[in-house]
Amino acid sequence: MTTTRPRNPTRAVRIGDITIGADHPVAVQSMAATRTQDIEATTRQVQLMQEAGADIIRIAVDSRKDTEALMKIADVAQRPLSVDLQEHYRLAEVIAPHVQKIRYNPGHLYHHERERPIRDKVGYLADVAAQNDCAMRVGVNCGSVDPEKLELFPADDSIGPMLASALEHCEMLDEIGFTRYCVSLKDSDPNKVIDANKRFAAQRPDVPLHLGVTEAGMPPEGVIKSRVAFEQLLSAGIGDTIRVSLTLPFDDKGEEVTAGRQILDDIAAGRYRSVPEYRPEGLNIISCPSCSRVENEAFIDLAHKVRDVTEYAKMHAITIAVMGCRVNGPGETDDADLGMWCAPTFVNLKRGEELIGKFGYDEVLDVLKIEVDRLISSTT
Ligand code: SF4
Repeated sequence: MTTTRPRNPTRAVRIGDITIGADHPVAVQSMAATRTQDIEATTRQVQLMQEAGADIIRIAVDSRKDTEALMKIADVAQRPLSVDLQEHYRLAEVIAPHVQKIRYNPGHLYHHERERPIRDKVGYLADVAAQNDCAMRVGVNCGSVDPEKLELFPADDSIGPMLASALEHCEMLDEIGFTRYCVSLKDSDPNKVIDANKRFAAQRPDVPLHLGVTEAGMPPEGVIKSRVAFEQLLSAGIGDTIRVSLTLPFDDKGEEVTAGRQILDDIAAGRYRSVPEYRPEGLNIISCPSCSRVENEAFIDLAHKVRDVTEYAKMHAITIAVMGCRVNGPGETDDADLGMWCAPTFVNLKRGEELIGKFGYDEVLDVLKIEVDRLISSTT
């Protein structure tokens, strides 16, 4: 691959039959958006991602039943699987024999079994990974950073805590002697993704990086945000694997992979589309790509309707966040002017960090428009 600068000399990390880092091509990955226990729907997602050329496929587990479903899906998957550990990190030992990579979120791990030292939990995961021939990803997300790291930095510095968390976990894994890992630092703002990854790479040029803009939203805006971040980073020699995270109808799941490959091809051919800085001036809608935690599949439709009904506000600098579940929704919407996250039968709506209320799926859009109008009139 041709980049403006040579790739960082990261170490090689093998994930099943694919290796990332060092001089290996940048791998493209994607993640199932369906409930893992819906084996038929999730297997269909896996097939779509495989057909689109995914190198690695991620699936989340949050319960024993999820792990049982993932074992069945793993039997038919043809690409290496990465398991996303959500609330129960001890599920790692159950599922590790069936997958090739384990992803954990240091912020979530902090909250699990609070009485157990974090070093022990990381040691446990490293042991499980080593015993089962798995790689690992330390996946730090802007909306779920370990609270002890947040306390160390001013409230307006969201990158410092992410960076501190990632570096701490690298140090722990290195001390344990487990080096078959990569790191991700994700935010919904591509500029923050660029900044966080550049700063991390400057301190740990040896650690392979998984790049992604979280909750990038729907195409084409979601693809543009990811493209901006990847162009800036890959051209600086940073990044070993990518995921374009998009809110898509389930049948279009392969689009995340197609978009990722297109971006890589364009960068290799010198076809850059971004300017050095991405500063959206108008309406900015961020939405998660959905995963096994999604509370109601109506979420995908809701995200599209939010874009349609707020079209009239596109010239106004307003950020609306739409998230699929109550676990990550509250934190991941904090930086938005208006935030929505889904529950099974209602949608939570907030203005900044203040909860406005809970509304039915059929009524929340009207309330949202009132709030958008209020924001417009307060700035004009
Ligand atoms: S916000 Fe919830 S449903 Fe959406 S991707 Fe994140 S964990 Fe999954």
